This record gives sequence, C-alpha cells and structure tokens, in this order.
Amino acid sequence: MTSSVLFDNLIDGHWRGSEDRVSNTNPSDVSDSIGRFALADVADARLAVTAAAEAAPGWARTLPTARAEILDRAGTEILSRKDELGDLLAQEEGKTLAESIGEVARAGQIFRYQAGQAVRSGGELLDSVRPGIEVAITREPLGPVTIITPWNFPSAIPAWKIAPALAYGNTVVFKPAELVPASAWHLTEILQRAGLPAGVLNLVMGRGSVVGDVITGSPLIAGVSFTGSVATGQHVLESAQAHRARVQLEMGGKNPLIVTDDADLATAVSVAIQGSFYSTGQRCTASSRIIVMNGIRAAFERALLEAMNDLVVDDARKLGTQLGPVVDASQLAQDERYLELARSTSRVEGGTRLSRETDGYYLSPALILDANNDDVCSREEIFGPVASIIPAESYDHAVELANDTEFGLASGIVTTSLARAQDFRRRSEAGMVMVNLPTAGVDYHVPFGGRKASSYGSREQGEYAREFYTTVKTSYVSAGS
Ligand code: ADP
Repeated sequence: MTSSVLFDNLIDGHWRGSEDRVSNTNPSDVSDSIGRFALADVADARLAVTAAAEAAPGWARTLPTARAEILDRAGTEILSRKDELGDLLAQEEGKTLAESIGEVARAGQIFRYQAGQAVRSGGELLDSVRPGIEVAITREPLGPVTIITPWNFPSAIPAWKIAPALAYGNTVVFKPAELVPASAWHLTEILQRAGLPAGVLNLVMGRGSVVGDVITGSPLIAGVSFTGSVATGQHVLESAQAHRARVQLEMGGKNPLIVTDDADLATAVSVAIQGSFYSTGQRCTASSRIIVMNGIRAAFERALLEAMNDLVVDDARKLGTQLGPVVDASQLAQDERYLELARSTSRVEGGTRLSRETDGYYLSPALILDANNDDVCSREEIFGPVASIIPAESYDHAVELANDTEFGLASGIVTTSLARAQDFRRRSEAGMVMVNLPTAGVDYHVPFGGRKASSYGSREQGEYAREFYTTVKTSYVSAGS
C-alpha cells in the first residue's frame, strides 16, 4: 500500500513542507510506503540553525525541573505507544517487531532517565588556595547543537543524543537518516507536544550531501554529535572543527568475538547468533569477526551453522521472524559484493537472496569459514548478516587477532575461565567488552563508545553524556571586604 500522507520538517516551531519529498519504503515489501517526507534544502537548514541559535539563551535559562518535566512527558508517551511506534520502526527499517518495540521502549526510558539528569546534575564548590575566596565549578549548556543520526537505530540513537542535549539546556538541529524519517518525525512531534518552546528542537529531514555542511559548518553551531560511517564522520569532523565546534563521532566497528576452547558450546552459539545476525547484522556493535580457538572450532562451526540455517528470515512484522530484510537495495548490493569477494578466497555458507510473499531485500545469514584476519571482509565493516570465522592457534593468538583491527568499539569473549575473562577485559582495545554476552546489546545508563577509528570525542549515554553537552565554568568568588 502506498501512503501519500505528507510529513514536514519542524523549523522554529512551524511545520514546513517542501517541493522535494522522499517516499519512505518498507524493506520487507517495496510496494508499501509509509508516507512522503519533506526533504530540506539549504535555506531550510539555515533557518533551522538560526532558530536553534535564537532559542538557545531562553532554553538555557529554563529551570531544570521544567526541562525534566517535558522530557519525562515525552518518555512516558513513547513508552505508552511503544507497540504502535515499534510497528512503524519495523515497517521503515526492517528489524523484527520484537526488536523494534524493544528499541522504542529504550528510547522512552532514555528520555525518562535524562529527565532525571536535568535536575540531578550539580557542580562543585572548593576553597581557593587564597583566603576568603570560594571556587565554584558549574556546568552550562554548549548552545545550539547539531545531531546527525544513521538509519540502523531510528529511535534509540536520536533519543540518546537529543535527550541529554535538551536535558542540559542545549537547543538542537536534528537530521535523521534519509531512510528512516518516520521514527524521527514522530519523536519530534511527541517532544514538541510535550512542551518544547519554538526553535528548541528543529527537525531537518534531508540529504546529508545537501544540508550537511550547513548544519555542521555554521559558526552558530557549538557542537555536532554524529553517528554513521567513518568517511562521513571524517567529513563532519573537518566541517565542524573549522569553526572550533565540539565534535562527537560514533562510527564503524569490526567487532571480535573470541570463542575459547573452554567455552560452553551452547552459550557460544547463542552469543554468536545474536551478536552476528540479529537486527540483520546491521549494528555497529555486531560481532563480525568470530575468532575461534582450534580446540573447539570444528564443534562450534557445526553447531553455529545448524543454528544459523534455522534462523527464520521474513517480513519484519510477521510473527516468528527472527531476521528481517536488509534495509535497502544499496546495502544489499554492498553485502553481496563483500560475499562475492569472500567466495573467491574462502568457503561461504548462506548469503543467498531469498524470495518471500512480498518483494523485499531478503538475504540469508552468511558465515565465511576459514577466514584470514587480513582479508578485506575481516577488515571492512560490511553491515549485513555476515560474519567470518577466524581460526586462532592459542588464547594469546586470539587476543592478538581481536585487537588487530583499525576499529575498537565492542569486543566479546565466550569462556568458562574467570582468568581468561579478566585478562581479556584488560587487554581488549575496545570501548566496550562483553563476557559471555553478545557484543551488541547495551544498557542506556552507562557509557557507550569506542576507541581507535570507531569513535571520537567523549562517551555517549548515561551520566557520561554530560561531558559532551555541557561546558565547565570556574568562578572565583570573594565577599569583597
Ligand atoms: P550510513 O552508511 O549509515 O548511511 P552515513 O555516514 O552515510 O552512514 O550516514 C549517517 C548520517 O550522516 C545520515 O543521517 C546521513 O544523511 C548523514 N550525512 C551524509 N552525508 C553527510 C554530510 N556531508 N554532512 C553531514 N551529514 C551527512
């Protein structure tokens, strides 16, 4: 069914249409579309930046309790509508209904958590080294910030950036990914109805290549928080740093999962299946390199292949589906290109196009066996339901392989040895380490982020989000006698 409902951008408190619109297609059924979404042009982007800048001083002065109430109201509404919004997310992005509803619920919880942060966040008071003087260390909002988000978490990533931005008194220009405007539009609409003054949150749906440089390069913008690809992140960094804006980037991953020879086989298989293939492998924290010690490799491969072949790939909103489709034609082509390359050097199981009741981007999950850590498919982020098995001769060799990557977002180990678990936790060069758990799947109240080429700037989520969205002021106060 093709919907002709129009969805507009929100700029300075007004819904603003556009001649240029994009149809939001369902990857499970390409004949189905959710509506026609306005694509902002350069003029819209400029207006959004100006609106955010003009609204900034007023919003910064609001009582933290007032900001907390708005965020809490929005979070409560998101939670109460999680089934409906989750269904929409599954329709536009293609992750399963259970994953989508879970993601929306998480977005609601993030707003409620960060609402609390608005009132909890205090400063410090110290005696000066000089007599009669007190030193107050306080935090103030950065000002207008630009938030750029990818398509793979259409609800949670905008939430974990926008909620702390608003909680700490910043105004926002929000540019969601072109493929998933519906979740972004509903989030914006909920926040606006929750009571945000005009200009505090501006929604600019549009192409990064058209509006990107305006919303990152404007000297009015004090900070840019971005999640997406390494190449775009680098471009955003240069554009924003040219006017000395603060920048936070979350980019790719090539996350290792070590399976040691002492691992519990069932745990190892379940952790690998979830980490590598759930959400169709379209997560920056997905386990794309499964590093397996030779002692367990044959048994693990057999069990993993069996479990992988049992995964049900179908319409994201169909009951029983475990893997939805790939997000769009271009991502599918990219997955297939990498699989073709892998087939030229390794044995590949799965990874074939599938036909279902409706015409969608269905691909069976794929395992690249006997991969080498230097192969292109072990180096570059594929972002699909594809994982490589990389053999390791010993535990130390496995750790070496795990760290031998330009990325450093998440890593995992499946082991029954406490000594190995602790050792890996220390030696892993990743921002997040999982023991007997999938590399993907994180909590909202603790820091999220990586090292090396995966991330730049301070951590996201939980209390740590404050680091990016506030600036420190040190005041020296004397009674002046
Ligand atoms: P992905 O491969 O996940 O689509 P991208 O890095 O291309 O990753 O996109 C992530 C986000 O960055 C999207 O919202 C996209 O529109 C945006 N984007 C793309 N190009 C630019 C740019 N030149 N400046 C700012 N944002 C951009």
